[in-house]
Amino acid sequence: MAEDASIIPTHTKAWYYSEHGSPGDVLKLDPNWPLPQQLNDDQVLIKVIAASINPVDYKRMHGEFKDTDPHLPIVPGYDVAGIVVKVGGEVKKFKVGDEVYGDINEQGLSNLKIHGTLSEYTIAEERLLAHKPSNLSFIEAASIPLALETANEGFEHAHFSAGKSILVLGGAGGVGNYVIQLAKQVYKASKIAATASTGKLELLRELGVDLPIDYTKENFEDLPEKYDLVYDVVGQGDRAFKAVKEDGKVVTIVPPGHPPAMFFVLTSKGSILENLRPYFESGKLKPILDAKTPVPFSQVIEAISYLETSRATGKVVVYPI
Ligand code: NDP
Repeated sequence: MAEDASIIPTHTKAWYYSEHGSPGDVLKLDPNWPLPQQLNDDQVLIKVIAASINPVDYKRMHGEFKDTDPHLPIVPGYDVAGIVVKVGGEVKKFKVGDEVYGDINEQGLSNLKIHGTLSEYTIAEERLLAHKPSNLSFIEAASIPLALETANEGFEHAHFSAGKSILVLGGAGGVGNYVIQLAKQVYKASKIAATASTGKLELLRELGVDLPIDYTKENFEDLPEKYDLVYDVVGQGDRAFKAVKEDGKVVTIVPPGHPPAMFFVLTSKGSILENLRPYFESGKLKPILDAKTPVPFSQVIEAISYLETSRATGKVVVYPI
């Protein structure tokens, strides 16, 4: 479905905040938000169809990253799936009408875009985007980029290889479900253990977990088995060391992540999405959507407030936009 570039508006509807605070206090909907009219040579303008939300959206809204992200007002949102409506002069990979998805912030916490994806239109560099797998809906595609790319980057930092064992701390959330799926389908772990609360153990099994651990009943560090990699997505880096083999590694994505745990902030790369595309097209990797998905655009405050409870299963996606 190609859209006529000549109908690109000068203004767009968008959620924004002008001061830091809770979503309910600071997030406002503007039906007439000015849309940047100039694209850099490497950028594309996207008609947003769906956008997923991530913990970084509420952490940023609360002002946790003020040092590296001082600008206000901000239109939040990293993840997008939509249709290209205009391309910059040097864009090679995409043309008007292409269905794309990606995380529009190259560095997770710095040089962040002021105009994010919780808007009818957004702008991103082509290197951050990929073609949407044809078997996925826009809702499914929007749920993927930041979480999948983060999960994958941890395996790269750990130099994880086939035949190693892994314990995932927090297997049921946006990132955790992909740590499990990648461990099983892409990195070929020999054994996968993961923690979650009681009601989510069945999901862990479905994703490929050999040993689901109910953290409401057992402490993972008290169990006898130790792992080559403990991958922490909930902020339990200190406890993680009690579950790792002597020559094993701990990766954590939750700051501050004291060494020797490996902490990193993700780098968005469309190439990761392109590389993993066959796994989605063959059904080996599956988007996991929270029961509240899709959340209508009018209910973004409720969606972000819900994500802040840290009880989401898989991803919360806003649609239609
Ligand atoms: P989610 O909000 O999707 O995580 C929610 C899930 O966490 C729920 O399913 C919940 O399961 C699970 N959970 C919460 N507490 C525990 C616990 N004590 N033990 C096991 N599971 C638990 O978050 P994301 O997955 O999107 O992000 C996770 C964290 O990683 C966030 O802090 C985020 O900011 C950070 N992050 C960091 C990045 C980086 O580049 N460094 C990139 C992406 C994310 P249950 O209900 O069963 O408790």
